[in-house]
Amino acid sequence: MAALFKARRALGSCLNGWRKLSQLAELPETHLIIRQTCREYADKELTPIAAKLDKEHCYPAQQIKELGAMGVMAIEVPEELGGAGMDYLAYSLALEEISRGCASTGVIVSVNNSLYTGPILKFGSEEQKKQWITPFTTGEKVGCFALSEPGNGSDAGAASTVAHQDGDEWVLNGTKAWITNSWESSAAVLFATTDKKLKHKGISAFLIPMPHPGLSLGKKEDKLGIRASSTANIILEDCRIPLGNLLGPRGAGFKIAMQTLDSGRIGIASQALGIAQASLDCAADYALKRTAFGAPIGKLQAIQFKLADMAVAVESARLLTWKAALLRDSKKAFTKEAAMAKLAASEAATFCAHQAIQVLGGMGYVTDMSAERHYRDARITEIYEGTSEIQRLVIANQVLKEYQQ
Ligand SMILES: Cc1cc2nc3c(=O)[nH]c(=O)nc-3n(C[C@H](O)[C@H](O)[C@H](O)COP(=O)(O)OP(=O)(O)OC[C@H]3O[C@@H](n4cnc5c(N)ncnc54)[C@H](O)[C@@H]3O)c2cc1C
Repeated sequence: MAALFKARRALGSCLNGWRKLSQLAELPETHLIIRQTCREYADKELTPIAAKLDKEHCYPAQQIKELGAMGVMAIEVPEELGGAGMDYLAYSLALEEISRGCASTGVIVSVNNSLYTGPILKFGSEEQKKQWITPFTTGEKVGCFALSEPGNGSDAGAASTVAHQDGDEWVLNGTKAWITNSWESSAAVLFATTDKKLKHKGISAFLIPMPHPGLSLGKKEDKLGIRASSTANIILEDCRIPLGNLLGPRGAGFKIAMQTLDSGRIGIASQALGIAQASLDCAADYALKRTAFGAPIGKLQAIQFKLADMAVAVESARLLTWKAALLRDSKKAFTKEAAMAKLAASEAATFCAHQAIQVLGGMGYVTDMSAERHYRDARITEIYEGTSEIQRLVIANQVLKEYQQ
């Protein structure tokens, strides 16, 4: 926590001036400190163990606690609630660096920040914030976000999990699918239909402690990538919670979920940037060291062109991500920019990870080097928190709206 507080105090007046997008050339000092702090942590504590965590499907409990102590598990949460009280640009920078070291750790951090504490901070009562956010700021406890179901992912409004009122309790039944952090979580922001007739307007958001009677977990999914994070079903069978565990108004769940995902997409864009940058780092380093036909392969134009295309993809996606974060921090509309950032950064991650393997040749294909892990980790960024197809729909809707005005 201390590191981020120190950085925030150094913020000074430079930030306001810098916020003008025309001045994107350099980050303000505070943000440089945050980026450097997280970069050093990732280089020292995450990069060396990322392959082992991936291979053993091992949750990085110790590292999550250390990141909690640095303030990274609740970056936007105000200090009085136990968080670092910083902005979304800071969050994006921290998450990119952490994901550059270990993309699994990146998604664990991202879910706790944007998908769990995020909606409670925005829609929760003061009492709910104290109860459900503060214990989740230190890395001792993490939370999860349960929207998807076996029968619906992209079509989130078609939720079939139901909640009905029984006296002074809600009773929930149904199955939520693919829930990141589910095995380690101490609580969930979970969505269920309170009035089926109203379709998506009948969905409500609930705060559920974990473990809890009537709530069980499915098996851990055996995934292609981000294997150190858990993904599993959450099964609800007459799961009873107090009426006070409703988050926001009854029927506001779909709106809460969509607004949460708008912000979450900046997090996933940042995670993807970390994977893309790690792929570029790995390819450039190898190109300088590997010789073929008597010279480093980095002298070959074919390899140089790959590195150039990777660098352009990373940098352009990074600028889109920062723009989305800055708009959010300035309380301006950012739905389109967050979708653009997520689309560009996830495609940059997939592209760069693919190219890195090509630059490494045979060494790209084996676990001795990190390129194959980046390739596996990159793929999910085009799927969760809205697939690339859904991002294109979101962007197109916004573009058409702009032309109608
Ligand atoms: C590792 C992992 C972690 C996850 N973590 C979470 C989590 O923590 N919480 C949570 O709630 N969910 C989570 N998810 C679920 C994730 O958000 C969904 O998988 C994703 O939204 C896609 O939904 P789906 O899998 O049902 O695919 P579908 O919606 O069935 O889509 C299948 C294909 O059809 C396309 N498609 C669907 N609708 C349209 C459309 N209207 N136009 C064009 N194309 C369309 C999709 O783009 C995709 O290519 C996670 C998933 C994975 C794999």
